[in-house]
Amino acid sequence: MKNLKIAIQKSGRLNEKSVQLLKNCGLNFENYKSSLITTVSNFPLEILFLRDDDIPEYVQDGIADLGIVGENVIAETEAEVRYLQRLGFGRCSLKIAVPSRSDIRELSDLNGKAIATSYPTILQKFLTENKITADIRMISGSVEISPALELSHAIFDIVSTGGTLRSNGLVPFADVMTSEAILISKNGIDSNPVVRELMQRIQSVLRAAETKYVVLNVERDNLDEIISLLPGVKSPTIVPLAEENWVAVHTVISEQDFWEKINKLKAAGAQGIVVMPVEKIIM
Ligand code: ATP
Ligand code: MG
Repeated sequence: MKNLKIAIQKSGRLNEKSVQLLKNCGLNFENYKSSLITTVSNFPLEILFLRDDDIPEYVQDGIADLGIVGENVIAETEAEVRYLQRLGFGRCSLKIAVPSRSDIRELSDLNGKAIATSYPTILQKFLTENKITADIRMISGSVEISPALELSHAIFDIVSTGGTLRSNGLVPFADVMTSEAILISKNGIDSNPVVRELMQRIQSVLRAAETKYVVLNVERDNLDEIISLLPGVKSPTIVPLAEENWVAVHTVISEQDFWEKINKLKAAGAQGIVVMPVEKIIM
């Protein structure tokens, strides 16, 4: 059987995390920056390194079977692909922003105005939904300087911290979409056993990333209260300690839950709390 192909970004904001995710799934490959394609030595998969803009269409057309790409790029290309898994990295939002001294106050003020963007399709859809007619100016990079150059009255672009907007005298005006990296496939391939195997590995890595292995010591008298504080754990492992009446509680807990419970655990008598990373969780 022919190897499957997965397309990931060649360089840029999603490259490193995409490579790391595949390596965490136990896939061995050389990440040759100069080559377009590399073969995984211990799994029937080839990796294509591409510009992110090309990934949705390559997957739609079956040149690649799978891809990792930002939701914004999928939406912009309108490629017909299947969403297999949200990956939790590459988070950002796409916003309309205006100069801080602009007289644009509400959405309808955008009527008749020029908006610069690298995402004309997403923007047009948003404007149409809001019954606004504006002049979309397609610019492929450095969109945020266009109001200062009087090329546009507003911009529509990716925002993560807002720092770039601020340093160009712009303020966010309307939220249009949020995005994160997504594992996509061409239609009809999700029942392929290799895809299922890869999906299982990816899910076990993602579950582990948000989970911690916690060990704490407690006196037997306080054990019930400690157990009641550990959410979602049916039955933690209890190990007797050398010191009489003391036990160690071993459990797996989401990092979020842990931070919420830590003070209560201490108040209930937990001592010597050790938190360790979890590599994989197989369900
Ligand atoms: P390519 O050379 O592959 O076309 P690019 O320059 O178009 O790369 P990058 O800037 O590397 O793209 O961003 C890739 C993706 O990372 C974006 O499409 C978006 O989904 C995500 N992303 C997350 N945070 C940000 C951010 N602050 N700025 C830009 N993109 C971000
Ligand atoms: Mg790109």
